[in-house]
Amino acid sequence: MNQAPLLLAVILFQQSLFGGLWLMAASLQLARRAALHWSAATLMVAAGMALVLVRASIDPWLGVVLANALLVLSFVAMRRGIQIFGRLPPSDREHAAVAALVVAGNAASTLLGGNMLLTVGLSSTLIGWTLLRAAHEVMLSLSDEFGRSAARWCAAPAALIGALFALRPVVGLFIGMASVGAIDAPGNGNLATAFASMVFGMLINTALLAMVVLRLVRRLQHQSDHDALTGLLGRRPMQRLLNAEARRQRRFGSGYAMLSLDIDHFKAINDSHGHAAGDAVLVRVAQALRSHVREVDRVARMGGEEFCVLLPGTDEAGARRSAERLLAAVRALRHPEGGGLQVTISIGLAVVKGGGEPLASLTRRLDRALYAAKARGRDRIEQAEPSVLA
Ligand code: GH3
Ligand code: MG
Ligand code: MG
Repeated sequence: MNQAPLLLAVILFQQSLFGGLWLMAASLQLARRAALHWSAATLMVAAGMALVLVRASIDPWLGVVLANALLVLSFVAMRRGIQIFGRLPPSDREHAAVAALVVAGNAASTLLGGNMLLTVGLSSTLIGWTLLRAAHEVMLSLSDEFGRSAARWCAAPAALIGALFALRPVVGLFIGMASVGAIDAPGNGNLATAFASMVFGMLINTALLAMVVLRLVRRLQHQSDHDALTGLLGRRPMQRLLNAEARRQRRFGSGYAMLSLDIDHFKAINDSHGHAAGDAVLVRVAQALRSHVREVDRVARMGGEEFCVLLPGTDEAGARRSAERLLAAVRALRHPEGGGLQVTISIGLAVVKGGGEPLASLTRRLDRALYAAKARGRDRIEQAEPSVLA
């Protein structure tokens, strides 16, 4: 039984499925330009494979030159999509050189009446090169965004398949081209090639999908953890950080400090200059807080015009210095709304030692300290009484 038509149908189905998936991703604006490249790549693989599988009964200019050009260019399109996804400049000169080489090599082979080294050898080398470079580019551009280990998993299929393609001509040179060149030979050649390209297609497309999903998840995580107006952390992630800090404190005993900050008479700014002016003030204050803390400190917007700052490994004197710096930084801001409006903040400060204090107790101490700062005239720092639980 000739299995080629069945496998051809399976590959066309698989590649169209991925092609459709990429078109859908593009229409959902998920990595749109990269997804369009990957959709084009799957269509080229489908067309190239279809030509390879009917190669025996068609003109070599279609069955060899066009087929191999489509297959090699599908990998080039995939790599260009990866470059766009990874925000790397597309290496179009190199892509053009690969295209020119595959067309020239295969045309020369056809004119010579069929030369394995020029068809199988050259095409495999170019695909191997393109895939290995693409794998390297995945690592280069996505290690920071996804973490090294996730980037490695995304790059692995391209690296593995790229290495196999690159090795093909080497094996061919040592064992003889016929042993690796039997792509379109009758019998198992078809079967093996079709099966391998099915698995390769699946692996590579799965890795590309994983990249898109990872980026989407990271983006959603970032949006859910950060306040849309100021870009600061929100209340929930700050509570997670505080719990982690409390655990660290219990284990290693290094104290930490917390500041609770609230803009003074903020309602009056909204009332006399409008809500948009209030928002602009919030953004500037948030920016000032962020740029006047140490790199290890974390600033969050807890809601409304209230912020808090976590100061890991900080004692009383250090926390007071930080609080004074923030107080001065906010006071120094001039807001164009209302002709150089000046705003101030009040700060409650609490130091945690010993690690036994629950979050609720720390929050109560901070609230009392902030309330005291407001009651004693605002634009000032008040320190919370030490915890009785520590
Ligand atoms: P105090 O000095 O005692 O802190 O007085 P205050 O006016 O700052 O405090 P109050 O809690 O009375 O008012 C807070 C105001 O903040 C009320 C609310 O309308 C406003 N607000 C909360 N969230 C936002 C926001 O996202 N944008 C703007 N523009 N205003 C906000
Ligand atoms: Mg206030
Ligand atoms: Mg308030």
